[in-house]
Amino acid sequence: MMDVIAGFVAIPDETAFWLRNATVPAPLLTAVPSGVRVSAEGLAVVDLAVRDGRIVDVAAAGGSALDGPRAGVGADRASRDAGVDLRRGQVWPCLIDAHTHLDKGHTWERAPNPDGTFDGAIRTVMADRAAHWSAEDVRRRMDFGLRCSFAHGTRAIRTHLDSAGPQAAITWPVFEELRKAWAGRIGLQAVSLVPLQVFGAREGEALAERVAAAGGILGAVGYVSPEIDALLDRMLALAEAHGLDVDLHCDESGDVGARALSHLARAVRRRGFAGRVVCGHCCSLAIQSPDVVAETLDLVVEAGISVISLPMCNLYLQDRVPGRTPRWRGVTLLHELAARRVRVAVASDNCRDAFHGYGDHDMLEVFREAARIGHLDRPFGDWPRAVTATPADLMGLTGAGRIGPGMPADLVLFEGRSWSELLSRPQANRVVLRNGRAIERRLPDYRELDDLVSPLESRGAPHGA
Ligand SMILES: [Zn+2]
Repeated sequence: MMDVIAGFVAIPDETAFWLRNATVPAPLLTAVPSGVRVSAEGLAVVDLAVRDGRIVDVAAAGGSALDGPRAGVGADRASRDAGVDLRRGQVWPCLIDAHTHLDKGHTWERAPNPDGTFDGAIRTVMADRAAHWSAEDVRRRMDFGLRCSFAHGTRAIRTHLDSAGPQAAITWPVFEELRKAWAGRIGLQAVSLVPLQVFGAREGEALAERVAAAGGILGAVGYVSPEIDALLDRMLALAEAHGLDVDLHCDESGDVGARALSHLARAVRRRGFAGRVVCGHCCSLAIQSPDVVAETLDLVVEAGISVISLPMCNLYLQDRVPGRTPRWRGVTLLHELAARRVRVAVASDNCRDAFHGYGDHDMLEVFREAARIGHLDRPFGDWPRAVTATPADLMGLTGAGRIGPGMPADLVLFEGRSWSELLSRPQANRVVLRNGRAIERRLPDYRELDDLVSPLESRGAPHGA
C-alpha cells in the first residue's frame, strides 16, 4: 500500500473553519458574492466558511473582514480564527464522472489492445469478458477504480456495465453491492451496455426488468442499421414502461454515415419520451457536412438530449490506422452543441483497458485534456461546469457540483492559482474535503491486481510446471 499523499495545505480538525483566499471559477459559484471581482479569466477570490460539514458562507476574500462579525458562521466566534490561507489556490466542488466503464477497467496487462483500434478493442474485451469476468474479478477491478476516483476527488459516477448474455447476471449484483458499500463516499449509477439489437428480442425485456430492479438506467450502443428506428422505439417503450432514464453510446466512429444520434432524437420526439436522455460520444458529428450537422443539432435541441464527450478515449481510438498519423481529434462538436444550449459534459470513459490504455479516474486530468483537445480554454467560460454542475444535472443530482451556502463541504483544493498553474501540473498534492473533513488520499497499488491481470510469467508461476 502506498503512503497517503501529502496535501499542499493542512486542514484543521475542527467543525468550523475558514478557507481563506480561495480562487473559485465563477461559473461554479451558485452566486458571486457582492464585492467580489471576477477576473478576465473567470476566476473569483473568496473566503469560504465551513461548519458542520457544510459551506455556510461565501464572501469576498479579505483579512480585515475576518476580524468583524460574519454572517453565517453565527455566534461561534471561537471558530473565526480556525482556518487556513489557501494563498489563492483553486477550490472546486467535488467532481462528477458521468460516463465510465468500471467493469472493463484495469485489464490492460492481461488484455492489451493489439493495434490500438476500435475493432481491436471490441475483439479484445469480448474475449477477456468470456474468459475472466467472474463476480470476484469484476468486483475487485471496479473497487480499484472507485478508490482511484475517490482519492482524486470524485463524488458521483455513472458507469456503463456490459450486460449482454450471461454477464448481466454476474455484474449487476456486484454493482448493487458496491453501490451500497460506497454510499456516502461515491454516489453510483449504472447503465446497461448491450448492442441495440438486444431490444429486438426477449432479452431486452428481461434486461429492462433487471435494470429497473436495480434502479439503473437503460442503455445500449446505437448504430445505424435498417432496424434502428424500430429498435429505438422498442427501447424507449421499455424505458417508459419501467420509468427509466436512457443513456446511449452513439456514433463513436469516424464514419460520416454514422447518424444514430439523429435517429435517437427523432425517436425521442416521435414517442414524446418523458425521461432524461443522454448520449455519449457522437464523434462522427465532427466530420459530417454542415447541413447534416445543422439538421442533427436542431433535432437534439428539440429532443432535449444531453451529450457527454469522452475526449481522452476518443483521442486514443478515433482515426487510428496503424502506422499512419491521425488527422482529427475524435471529439464531438463541443462548442457548437454548447452554443445551442445543449447540456455538454465531459467524462473519463475507459481506464487502462483495450479502449483506452491509460487513465486514473482523475476528472482533473479529464478536464485538462478536454481543454487541450477541444480548445475549451480561450475563454474557459462555463466549461468548468462540464465536469461538475452539468454532469450533476444530467444525472439528476439536483444542485450538486456547485459551491454556495448550504452546499455540502465536498471540495477539492488545488495549489494552482491561475488556469495555467492548475492545468500544467497534475496537482497530485491536492486536498479533498468530504463533509468538511480532509480524506486520506490513498491511491491503490497496481500490484493488488497482479493475481488477476498479470501475464502468467510475472505471477511467480513455478518454472516447468
Ligand atoms: Zn463509454
